[in-house]
Amino acid sequence: MVILANCEGLTGMPAARDALEAGRSVLDVVEQGVRAVEADPRVHSVGRGGHPNLLGEVECDAALMDGATRMVGAVGALSGYLHAVSVARELLQRLPHAFLVGAGAARFAAEVGAEPAEMLTPEARGTHERWLAEHLTPEQRERLGQGPLAPHAWRSSQTLISRGTVVVLARNARGEFAVGTSTSGWARKYPGRIGDTAVVGAGFYVDDRYGACACTHSGEMILRAGTSRAVVLAMQRGATMEEACADAIGDLARLRGGYLGPVLIHTLDRHGRAHVVSTHDYGDRFAACLWREGSLEIERVRPCVLATPGGGAT
Ligand code: ASP
Repeated sequence: MVILANCEGLTGMPAARDALEAGRSVLDVVEQGVRAVEADPRVHSVGRGGHPNLLGEVECDAALMDGATRMVGAVGALSGYLHAVSVARELLQRLPHAFLVGAGAARFAAEVGAEPAEMLTPEARGTHERWLAEHLTPEQRERLGQGPLAPHAWRSSQTLISRGTVVVLARNARGEFAVGTSTSGWARKYPGRIGDTAVVGAGFYVDDRYGACACTHSGEMILRAGTSRAVVLAMQRGATMEEACADAIGDLARLRGGYLGPVLIHTLDRHGRAHVVSTHDYGDRFAACLWREGSLEIERVRPCVLATPGGGAT
């Protein structure tokens, strides 16, 4: 039994571990791990307390994938509900679809009795208002809802602090895997922007036969490269997890144009071995969390750095 989460997932590790030890399904395990982070207002990139979009609204993306069936539930740009990941779980179980966004996702959340919540905390509102005051003129702030937003979206994408996600990957004693993800996306993103986190094949992918993968940070790059699917497919074709991640990072480094930034890849192979790689060296700042059966401790895993600034993914 093993659970791998990214650094934001630390808060959720005890809930995920308890669910795994209690013999609950792997989907339950990753959902419980993600829910704890969504409810934690100190994590400013996930759920309540997350950074809002340019218009001051918190829009969440979340997903779950089951490695045995490869069923997916995903929601994007969901506002007003505490646990986007649980709305994604309901979707996986109740609908013939895999992905709902915006008003349709909110409608479905209401239909299944998801918990409504005010997602914008006073702290996140304060950070947002300070950023607007520092970067926009009083006239631009006044007309923010009516005028063009695109120039502000570029400006706000430049600071690393404005990102983050929770990803939780789990494997039980029977070798069954699941992945769960959730994010409020980039701070001050363009309204309606959906990154990689809720997009199957980009932000996450899992197949019990080969292993699991989930990515964080520059969602636009991960979307363009289809990174999580690429890693699992490489393992399907016989690559080791380390080779699969190295190939995926090499592919990301060859992207040109558009938004380029850092990417982290979190992987479990089919034996439950873990590997975390990063395009940039942040030391322990984005160290992942790893728990294995029989361990009393949650181990921190420092990502291996596989590309350096200047290699495309800057
Ligand atoms: N990948 C997330 C997104 O693009 C953000 C992050 O993980 O930093 O929304």
